[in-house]
Amino acid sequence: MKLNVGDAHLHRTGCLFIVSGPSGAGKTSICTPALARLERLELSVSTTTRAPRGKEVDGVDYRFTSRENFDAMVERGEFAEWAEVHGNRYGTPRSGLDAALRSGRDVLLDIDVQGAAQIREAYPRAVSIFLLPPTREHIQRRLTGRGTDAPETVRRRLDAACAEIGQLPEYDFFIVNDELDEAIEAFLSIVRAERFRTSRFNPARLKTALKLFEDN
Ligand code: 5GP
Repeated sequence: MKLNVGDAHLHRTGCLFIVSGPSGAGKTSICTPALARLERLELSVSTTTRAPRGKEVDGVDYRFTSRENFDAMVERGEFAEWAEVHGNRYGTPRSGLDAALRSGRDVLLDIDVQGAAQIREAYPRAVSIFLLPPTREHIQRRLTGRGTDAPETVRRRLDAACAEIGQLPEYDFFIVNDELDEAIEAFLSIVRAERFRTSRFNPARLKTALKLFEDN
């Protein structure tokens, strides 16, 4: 029998990654290329009560649903976490998440700080990453950029974003996105390192592997 580096991926439970950050932090610009470069990492598709925007596709970007149906799902305990963000509800379906982790697949959740707190409680081994823009103006520019919101709405969202940043110390890692390529590399490093943690390796399998090195 010979051990190889890939064994670490084959015989462990899945890693759960959380990414949070205000709009303007560049979550999509970091996560999309990172996901393309990482095998066996899937992005969880959240359920939301908000209306689809632009080219968003139901079942791909989000599962869009009514408030009534969302609340019924909450009642039935179907969410691993859920939260209200800017007047809409968002939740992570529990069944797909648990099935992926059980079968050793890694999952990335793009969720807000309230949801991240619930996941940390329920999944203590989850790894959380906070993405931060380099300046307050980055958030402001992003919020005004859509051009659809009234100034007081933008102001309210800017205040909310800055309040969210106050939760950063609760996260395991934070990355400042001032240089996109560096931020992507930092994100990849965190995911790759976590995958090699001894404590994630299947204990029975580890024992078998170590037998290779025992004295005969
Ligand atoms: P947007 O409506 O712009 O797509 O997302 C708004 C915010 O909701 C983002 O901060 C995003 O991370 C958060 N969000 C998206 N899906 C979920 C979810 O399933 N749970 C929680 N708690 N937040 C979510």
